[in-house]
Amino acid sequence: MSVLPLTYIPDQILRKKTRKVSKLTDEMVSLTDDMIETMHAEHGVGIAANQVGRNLRIAYIEIPEESEENGELTEAMSYLLINPEIIKRVGIREIDEGCLSIPGFRGNLSRSVKVTVRAQDINGKEFRIKAENLLAQALEHEIDHLNGVLYVDRMEDAEKLYLLDPADGAQSQTNMTTINIWNMRHFAQPVVRKS
Ligand SMILES: [Zn+2]
Repeated sequence: MSVLPLTYIPDQILRKKTRKVSKLTDEMVSLTDDMIETMHAEHGVGIAANQVGRNLRIAYIEIPEESEENGELTEAMSYLLINPEIIKRVGIREIDEGCLSIPGFRGNLSRSVKVTVRAQDINGKEFRIKAENLLAQALEHEIDHLNGVLYVDRMEDAEKLYLLDPADGAQSQTNMTTINIWNMRHFAQPVVRKS
């Protein structure tokens, strides 16, 4: 296993709808191991294959046992998702979100309260996840990635995008400004949101 270099905006691979996996090869299985290791190294809760430069419909999500969301304790969960699709969304809520591919920033946006996702596991077997809270948010975020969509595309107001204080532990691998990121919204495709 190895830690892979992340892709950052404005890398075009983050704007492509990723390619469906018809048969999981050994190389793809090894990629999933590397994605997991990379996500751990970057302290993320999710990662999509195009965030490590691979045009494949594969994502991994790992929700830690203790989440800071609302100060609530959540159950630890991890999911490897091959060809995931959201098949149902319920409700709308406002939340804060960040992304490993947009380091140093967070934004406030609307996400669903609950989602149902259909995906395949590493053996190609189909399964479904009914999710709420942080897991629902992570599923929407990662499946957006696989569709070439970033959280900033879903924001309504530039003032809701803010730069983290580097003293708070934010990485500063980018000298992007808020205006730069805001102007990059929707540059590949329109986002159609059904609620
Ligand atoms: Zn992301």
